Amino acid sequence: MGRVVVVGSYNVGLTVVAPALPAPGQTVLGHTFDMGPGGKGSNQAIGARRLGADVTLVVKLGRDPFAQAAFELFDREGLLGPGILEASGHTGVGLILVDDDGRNMIAVAPGANGQLVPDDLDAMPELFDGASHLICQLECSPELFAGAAERARAAGATTILNPAPAVPLSEPVLALVDILTPNQTELAALSGVAARDDREIEAAARSLQARGVGEVVVTLGERGVLRVMPDGIQTQPARSVSARDTTGAGDAFNAGLVTGLSTGFSMTEAIELGVRAGAFCVTRLGVIDGLPTRQQLEAEVPA
Ligand code: ADP
Repeated sequence: MGRVVVVGSYNVGLTVVAPALPAPGQTVLGHTFDMGPGGKGSNQAIGARRLGADVTLVVKLGRDPFAQAAFELFDREGLLGPGILEASGHTGVGLILVDDDGRNMIAVAPGANGQLVPDDLDAMPELFDGASHLICQLECSPELFAGAAERARAAGATTILNPAPAVPLSEPVLALVDILTPNQTELAALSGVAARDDREIEAAARSLQARGVGEVVVTLGERGVLRVMPDGIQTQPARSVSARDTTGAGDAFNAGLVTGLSTGFSMTEAIELGVRAGAFCVTRLGVIDGLPTRQQLEAEVPA
C-alpha cells in the first residue's frame, strides 16, 4: 500500500444562521450557531484516512484555542504527526452567515495557513520517503503546491491538485500536476474557456493539458465525472442518492480518488470510489459527517 501526503489548509468554521443576511453596517440577530472543523486539506486527509489510506497531513495551526480543538480532532482521526505545525498567529477561520433560505456570505482569514511554506517541508526530511501520492488544494498558495510537488516527484510520487478555490496558475505550476481535479466552475476559471457541455469541458481540459497538466478529472456534481486523458475521454455517472447538502462533495470525491490510487486501484476504480464517497457526502449535513468510513460506505453506497 502506498502513502498519501496531504499538504493543505485547516480552518475552523464559525456559522451563524439568521432570518436574513445583514446589509453593510447592519446587525442581525441569528438563531443558530455552529462551530466545526473545515479546510480542504484537513477534510481530504480525514476523508482518505476514514476510507483506509495511510495519510500524512501537513497543515499549520496558530497558537489559540482553535488549534487545541484541531489537535484533538487530528488525534481522534489518527492524523497526529510531525506535519501538524504551529505558527505564531491565529488558526485559519471562516466566518459564515447563512439565511433561512440557505444563502450564505463567507469571509476567510487564512492566518497560519498563509505561513505554511515549502521550507517547512524540508524540516521533515522523511516526508516523501515511500510516499505514492501528494494531494494539495488551493486554499494555500500555488507556490506551496509547487514546492511540495517538486519534492514529491523527486521521491517518485504522483501529484494531484484539487484546484479549489480556483486561482490563476502559471505554466511552471501546471507542469507539476499529474492529475487535476477541478469541478466545472474551477475548470472554466483555470482555462479561461467556457465549460458548459461535455464538448466544451473536453476543450477546456485539453487547453490545460497543452499547458502542462497530465490528466484532468472533472467533477460534474450529480452528473458524475468526465475524465480527459491525453488520448481520449471517459465518463462515469454519479450514484443516485437523495441529496440533503452538497457541501464537501468535492472533498469526499478527492479523498476517495486518492485512497483508491494509493491502495493500488486503477484510475477507473479509484474514480468510482470517489464517486461513491461524493454520493455519501451529499446525504449528510456538513462536511465532517459526510466523510464516510469504509464500513459506512460499503453499507450505504455499496460497490
Ligand atoms: P464540488 O463539491 O467540488 O463542487 P462536485 O459537486 O462536482 O464537486 O461533486 C463531486 C462529486 O461528488 C461528483 O463528481 C459526484 O460524483 C458526487 N456528487 C456531487 N453531487 C452529487 C449528487 N447530488 N448526487 C450524487 N453524487 C453527487
